[in-house]
Amino acid sequence: MNSIADNLEKVQERIHEACRACGRDVNDVELIAVSKKKEVPALREALDAGQTLLGENRIQEVMAKQPELPGSIRWHLIGHLQSNKVKQAIHCGFDCIHSVDSTKLMLALNAEAGEQGIVQPILLQVNISGEASKSGLSPDEVIPLLEQATRCMHLDVQGLMTIPPFTEDPEKAGPFFAALCELRDQAASETGFPLTQLSMGMSHDLEVAIREGATWVRVGTDIFGARS
Ligand SMILES: *Cc1c(COP(=O)(O)O)cnc(C)c1O
Repeated sequence: MNSIADNLEKVQERIHEACRACGRDVNDVELIAVSKKKEVPALREALDAGQTLLGENRIQEVMAKQPELPGSIRWHLIGHLQSNKVKQAIHCGFDCIHSVDSTKLMLALNAEAGEQGIVQPILLQVNISGEASKSGLSPDEVIPLLEQATRCMHLDVQGLMTIPPFTEDPEKAGPFFAALCELRDQAASETGFPLTQLSMGMSHDLEVAIREGATWVRVGTDIFGARS
């Protein structure tokens, strides 16, 4: 098996090549190494290789890992967040929470961030394909939610996130990524939120996501290996 450092280098090369292929600035795309279900030594190996941005999808797991690792790590929450975990989620100090998918959750995060005296960066998760099994806002809920977000003084809404249906051919995800980008453009112009961040693309389709405008790609398997 390749080392995590080697894998990170390969993924960074793919990001560079994808940017070159579509004429984007590589500085506009940042890699989130998705370390869910991986043990602390693996995370430390990634950190030692210079990867300071990690993505996790469970609060309990983050709370267990954070005390074991340096404060230089920036944590992103990419998994579903339940309302009863909001207090802990704010306490974790995430650089960004990608998975805000309801008014209730957004308002609870705003209230708790206010309690803890911080401004929490968030993304709105959109179920762009409309698959019944996926969480996320439907596209037509995004602008109304942003209108409510103008009153959330303790949140910083930075953009949109999506997970397209899995298909063997990564090109099939292209139209979903393009639709998220288009929704972002429309929502930004109607609400005034800049919505600069687009979180989309994973191990097998990051090139397609970058071509369609991703600013954050979330890569787990191709860095840390398969998860059990
Ligand atoms: C697990 C996960 C990823 C990483 O997926 P890989 O296919 O392992 O790269 C990305 N985004 C989300 C939301 C995830 O839950």
